[in-house]
Amino acid sequence: MDQLFKQNIDWAAARVQEDPDYFKRLSGLQTPEYLWIGCADSRVPANVITGLQPGEVFVHRNVANLVNPGDLNCLAVLQFAIDVLKVKHVIVCGHYGCGGVRAALNNERHGLIDYWLHPVRDLAEAHRAELDAIGDPEERVNRLCELSVVEQVRQVSDTPIIRDAWNRGQPLTVHGWCYGLVDGLIRDLKCSRSSL
Ligand SMILES: [Zn+2]
Repeated sequence: MDQLFKQNIDWAAARVQEDPDYFKRLSGLQTPEYLWIGCADSRVPANVITGLQPGEVFVHRNVANLVNPGDLNCLAVLQFAIDVLKVKHVIVCGHYGCGGVRAALNNERHGLIDYWLHPVRDLAEAHRAELDAIGDPEERVNRLCELSVVEQVRQVSDTPIIRDAWNRGQPLTVHGWCYGLVDGLIRDLKCSRSSL
């Protein structure tokens, strides 16, 4: 734990050295243009992989980047981001090789997380023919990662929060992306929505 505090002190000192007003400016204002809904996986940190600074992206992460219409945590983040921060982009970013998606696809049992991943299992069932036609097991997981992102974009876009924003003409686009752990690159799944 001491190491983390030491690194924090070094990090803060480096920021001030680069820009003496760094924290003064950041602490005064939060005006991110992006809401990131991503996986809790430690290898997919929103700020790092997009090169965004603190203050530039509002972040919600959970296992397998799911948007469940009954998830009050996710909906509260979404509502605050849209209605108060007025972000212009909601990015659902999954990642290839997602352990949550793999567990759902292979019906692995891990406890409470199985309930959380239930929508991914349903999605896999709905696309059973397409997934079964893919010979390579890892490619099958990756395809379900993409299908799930597309589904989460649909789920977000169907929330009253987003529909109301579009109804009142608020500029807002919902994007579906997938990040590659092996090459560090983000792929746009071309399933964006920006109106009803
Ligand atoms: Zn994941």
